[in-house]
Amino acid sequence: MLDQQKITILYCRLSNEDQSDQESNSIQNQRTLLTTYAQSHGYNNIKVLVDDGYTGTNFNRPGVQEGFELVKQGLVGTWIVKDMSRFGRDYLTVGQYTELIFPSFDVRFIAINDGVDSAVGDTDGFTAIRNLFNEWYPKDTSKKVRAVLRQKGMSGQHIGKPPYGYQEDPERKGYWIVDPEAAAVVAHIFDLSIAGKGPDQIARHLEKEQVLTTRAYYAKRKGKPLPDKPHHWNNNSIVGILERREYTGCTCNFKTYSKSYKLKKRIPNDEKDMFILEDTQEAIVPKVVWDRVQELRKNKRRPVKAQRQGLFSGLLFCSDCGSKLHFATCKSFDGKQDHYVCAQYKSGRGDCSAHYIREDVLREITLERIQAVNAYVRQDVEHFREEWLRCRRKDQERSIRDGQKRLKQAKKRLDDLDRLIQRLYEDQVLGNLSMERYKKMSAGYESEQEQLRLEIADLEGWVNQQQEMDDNLDSFIALVNKYVDVTELNQTIVNEYIHKIIVHAPDKSSGHRVQKVEIVWNFLEEVGIPSLPTILNIQKTLKAQKTA
Ligand SMILES: [Zn+2]
Repeated sequence: MLDQQKITILYCRLSNEDQSDQESNSIQNQRTLLTTYAQSHGYNNIKVLVDDGYTGTNFNRPGVQEGFELVKQGLVGTWIVKDMSRFGRDYLTVGQYTELIFPSFDVRFIAINDGVDSAVGDTDGFTAIRNLFNEWYPKDTSKKVRAVLRQKGMSGQHIGKPPYGYQEDPERKGYWIVDPEAAAVVAHIFDLSIAGKGPDQIARHLEKEQVLTTRAYYAKRKGKPLPDKPHHWNNNSIVGILERREYTGCTCNFKTYSKSYKLKKRIPNDEKDMFILEDTQEAIVPKVVWDRVQELRKNKRRPVKAQRQGLFSGLLFCSDCGSKLHFATCKSFDGKQDHYVCAQYKSGRGDCSAHYIREDVLREITLERIQAVNAYVRQDVEHFREEWLRCRRKDQERSIRDGQKRLKQAKKRLDDLDRLIQRLYEDQVLGNLSMERYKKMSAGYESEQEQLRLEIADLEGWVNQQQEMDDNLDSFIALVNKYVDVTELNQTIVNEYIHKIIVHAPDKSSGHRVQKVEIVWNFLEEVGIPSLPTILNIQKTLKAQKTA
C-alpha cells in the first residue's frame, strides 16, 4: 500500500515572529506531532527537515529546498506538515507545489491539522489553501473588499438616473456627461450657498432671476408644455441639489439600504458604507466647495429676530465646552452690540461661561489675519508650498507609499494568477491534470482574481483621494490670489477662508481683558505651519468691558 522504498518527509518550520506567542508551533512540538503521526500511520524511512527562524512568505529556506530536491529526484513518497502555514504562506507557490508539482511526482501531501491529504481528495485541500490566502491578506483589506463586493456598480457605472445638471452619455450606458445649461444653474446654487444663503433664500433668488425649475426644464427639453409657476423653486429641490455628492464628479452608489429584503423602507447609509468612486464624470462643483457647503448646512443658521445674522454664525466654537457660540444682537444706534456667547451660557443659567465676543472685534482681527496670511503666502508661494507639503506629508507619506506598494503587489499577483491559469490550462491539455481538478482550480484562481480586481479598484480610489488632498493646497493658493487686496469681509470670504474659530474665555488677571482666539483655516485644516504659529494663535487685548 505505502511505497516503503520512498522517503517520508516530515517538515517543520518556525519563523522568528512565530516564536514569541505560539508554543504549539515550536519545532519540538511539530517534530513530536509529525513523528507520532507518521509512526501511527505506518510510515517509515522518515526524514525530518527543519527550517528554524525562516519566514513562510517565501521558499528560500534550506530545509524546504532540500526536500524539493529529493522530490524532483523522485525519492519522496509523502510530505507531511502540521498545517499549511508551516509549509508556506505564499499562496501562489504553495498552490504550485501542492496542486501541480507534488502530484506530478506522485508525492502524497498531508497537512494534519488542516485535514489536507492529497490521496483522499482535494475538497478540503482547496478550502485550506483558500484559508491560507485569507490569512495572507491584511485583515482590514478583506473587510474593505467585502464592502466593495456588495456593490455591483464597481466600474463607475451609475445605478440611478442622472440628476439635474447631468445627462446620460449616449455612447456609454450608465455614464453621465454634463448638461451645460442645467450645470450652470447647479454651480450658481452652490455659489449662493457659499455666500451664506439658505435654501429658502436661494429658491426665492432663482425665482426672481426667472430660472426654470428642474421640472419645467425637463418639460421644456421634451417640448412639453411648462408646468404652472415654472420658476417657483421649492426648498426641497434646492436641498436635494446641495446634498448631491455626484456633482463633484464621483459615482455614489449604495446611499441607502434596507434592513431586510422584506422591508421596503430605505434607510440612509453611513458615508463609510456608501460606494464612492471619484472622477467618473466631469465635476460641476469642486470637491472643496461641496465639502464647504455640507459644513455650512450642518451649521444651519437660524435667522435671529432682527432678521440679521452674524457674519460668523456657525463658525465659532467655545474652547471650554465645545458648543457653538450663538449670535445675539442688541438694539443700539451703531450696531456695535452685535456679539456671540457660548450656547451653554444661557444668560448665566447654563453650564459654561459667556465667552462673550463682539462681532466687530472678530471682524477686525479676522480681516487682519486674512491679510497677513495672504501677504505671507504671496510673498513666497513656493516656500509656502514646500512647507505645507512637508507637514502634510509627514503623516501621509508612509501610508500613500504603502498603498502604492500594495497596489503594485496586487497587480503583480493578478498577472501571476493569469500565468498560473494559463499553465493549468496547458497541464490539462497535456493530460497532467484531470478536467475536474482543472475546473475546480481555475475557478478558484479566477475568483481570487476577481477579488484582487476589486481590491485594486479600491486602492486606486484611495491613493487618488490622498493625492487630491494636495489639490487643497492649490485651492488655498487660488483663494489667496482671488482676494489679493481684501479690505472688507463678507459672508463669502469668511466661508471660503475659515473652517472654524475657537473662542477662549477672557483672562482678566492682568488687569486687561485678554481673549484668545484661534482661527482654523479651510483647506489647511489641522495642518500646523511652523513658520505661521502666530497666525493660528492670536491674542487681542481690549479695555475692560462692562458687558463682559
Ligand atoms: Zn462653552
